[in-house]
Amino acid sequence: MTFSSEKIIEVKHLVKHYGKFKALEDVSFEVYKGDVLGFLGPNGAGKSTTIRAILSLIKPTSGEIKLFGKDPVKDHKYIFSRIGCIVEKPDFYLYLSAQKNLEIFARLTGVELKKNRISEIIDFVGLKGREKDKLKGFSNGMKQRLGIAQTLIHDPELIILDEPTTGLDPQGILDIRNLILQLKNEYNKTILLSSHLLSEIELIANRMVIINKGKTLVQGSVANLLNEQELIVSFTLDDIDKAKLLLASFGLEKQFVSSNQNNLLLQISNDKIPAVNKLFCDNAIKVFSIETKRKLEDYFLKLINN
Ligand code: ADP
Repeated sequence: MTFSSEKIIEVKHLVKHYGKFKALEDVSFEVYKGDVLGFLGPNGAGKSTTIRAILSLIKPTSGEIKLFGKDPVKDHKYIFSRIGCIVEKPDFYLYLSAQKNLEIFARLTGVELKKNRISEIIDFVGLKGREKDKLKGFSNGMKQRLGIAQTLIHDPELIILDEPTTGLDPQGILDIRNLILQLKNEYNKTILLSSHLLSEIELIANRMVIINKGKTLVQGSVANLLNEQELIVSFTLDDIDKAKLLLASFGLEKQFVSSNQNNLLLQISNDKIPAVNKLFCDNAIKVFSIETKRKLEDYFLKLINN
């Protein structure tokens, strides 16, 4: 699939200080038209702060933000009519129906609704048949889907979702994931999606940015970052010393990462695993298990644990 080179979001060297505390030190990334950009980082990394700055909810200490190629402060009205977002848990009137909540939201934001727009959206987020029910009986997943419905009322081109699956059960997570994929594939929306879970991002996003401690660490295509790189492969063996000597004699010592009594970690690509396994077996080293871990996953887990 090809993606556009039109930049919908540009963040350059974003810095945000709260007094002496540096919430953001240097965040830079781009979101292109048609992207589902996974904005990934452990809790406290600065994701919400960045999103709030993008949405002009807070003023950055320094740095540059452009939305649709324009300055969001100068062209505020034009830009924000093209954006839908969930930045915190959406606020609803629990004693009113889903339909009524959307009508009130539309009125408050001054959106002129096309006929049937609300029922179209209710249908899209899978709440058809429940639109007349009061929200107090809704699950968290249903409320979150209604939150997505709210972001869609004015048919925005860019949708920003800050940790939209937090607190949802597995079915709720799946529903939101499917909605995001539908928004991308069927409606060609550009989506910025933050998460602290790599597993979540890799299922939905085509590109991702990883931030930690207020700084961008990497950005790129999910396929490139995750799949085309070498793996960390853990071999559980009966004779680690012999295995190490063997690897050295085949010039593979550079692939060696670490070992303990029964485990040997090697950094190799997927297609080398059978050959290394055969090498051990041919030399009477018993192989009890082979486990693979992608470098980026390992890297990200280390970040979270730091
Ligand atoms: P994330 O969304 O990645 O979990 P946040 O952007 O919410 O991270 O927070 C980044 C850091 O900035 C955290 O250490 C947080 O405590 C701090 N922070 C966020 N908002 C404020 C604020 N209004 N005042 C002081 N510190 C804040």
